[in-house]
Amino acid sequence: MIHGGEFDNPLGSATVPIYQTSTFIFENADHGARCFSGEDDGYIYTRIGNPTIHALETLVADLEGGSEGIATSSGMAAVNTLYMALLSQGDHMISSAAVYGPSRVVMEQHWARFGVESTYVNTANPDEILAAFKPNTRMLYVETPANPTMDITDLRLCAKIAHDRGALLVVDNTFCSPYLQRPLELGADAVFHSMTKFLNGHADIVAGMIITKDKALGKKLRGMMVNMGCNMDPHQAYLVIRGIKTLGIRIERSQQNAMKVARFLESHPKVAWVKYPGLESHPQHELAKTQMHGFGSMISFELKGGLDAGKVLMNNVKVAILAVSLGGVETLIQHPASMTHSKVSHEAKLKAGITDGLVRYSVGIEDVDDLIDDLKLGLEKI
Ligand SMILES: *Cc1c(COP(=O)(O)O)cnc(C)c1O
Repeated sequence: MIHGGEFDNPLGSATVPIYQTSTFIFENADHGARCFSGEDDGYIYTRIGNPTIHALETLVADLEGGSEGIATSSGMAAVNTLYMALLSQGDHMISSAAVYGPSRVVMEQHWARFGVESTYVNTANPDEILAAFKPNTRMLYVETPANPTMDITDLRLCAKIAHDRGALLVVDNTFCSPYLQRPLELGADAVFHSMTKFLNGHADIVAGMIITKDKALGKKLRGMMVNMGCNMDPHQAYLVIRGIKTLGIRIERSQQNAMKVARFLESHPKVAWVKYPGLESHPQHELAKTQMHGFGSMISFELKGGLDAGKVLMNNVKVAILAVSLGGVETLIQHPASMTHSKVSHEAKLKAGITDGLVRYSVGIEDVDDLIDDLKLGLEKI
């Protein structure tokens, strides 16, 4: 996290310089031709490649145990690059029903127009995955822990199910970061991140990254990213590199806080239920231990007073910020049914376990006593 990432360093810079340029000067006409033919690996044009972006790509690929990193302008750019490169007209994909809202909306409302079929199931239940497989299924797309239900899907089992049937396993690893979960080591073919969240960690940019172990697959995805033009900007890359230096200590602190906040909520009389993988009451607590290296800092819960009570809480907390997004140093609180998942149909939300009363809480690195006092005071207003 601190020393990774390849870059040429003729002047001995302690940090990766920002190569804020759109294009790169060739030594002569033949050199330019060699760069284009691939005989020379010199830089050509920032949409195709840039040293600052390359440093970040090699850093995150290394953290995920992959060989190729493909940086994208946002997490959704990574999602669409994966769909576009790996699915064709007439293909079918199976996805976790509880996923980041737009990952589902773009598939059902836009990729469907081009003849890509999809089925959304509870991937925490392998029988549902098996029942959804069709002869044309090319992709199994999993988010674990799921957004926002915190359900855990068995990645080793999914890799086996997908590979036995000729499909690829794609994992959205945003909620964990490679610090807590490395899906490529569990058999996934491609992993991606919204680096807007934990990897950058400071709520100041939007960014994405796809990582593969297989070089040919990585090359295919890179080609698609370059042609779709959803590349990252060098300044954005620099900020994520800077953010990743503290990923370890940020995650350690925020997940320690999360455990205490989850226990506080679980013991509070106004709380109906709490889902946090670190609680013994989480239905897949044991599975989480076998594939995660910690339980992370995302919590979902519902108050006994349902949505009305949830709104009072959201309007009365002062340390936690009422905003979407997650994984930053600051604690955030939001209401998925009316915010991040508002474009997902009501029936689909209920089937995925996204109830109207569900509140999502992303724990930051503040003093945990401040967070608990904040929740206590907010809950008193109900
Ligand atoms: C935020 C998020 C995305 C989308 O990423 P952007 O950077 O906002 O485009 C995808 N998946 C998950 C789990 C997310 O939280």
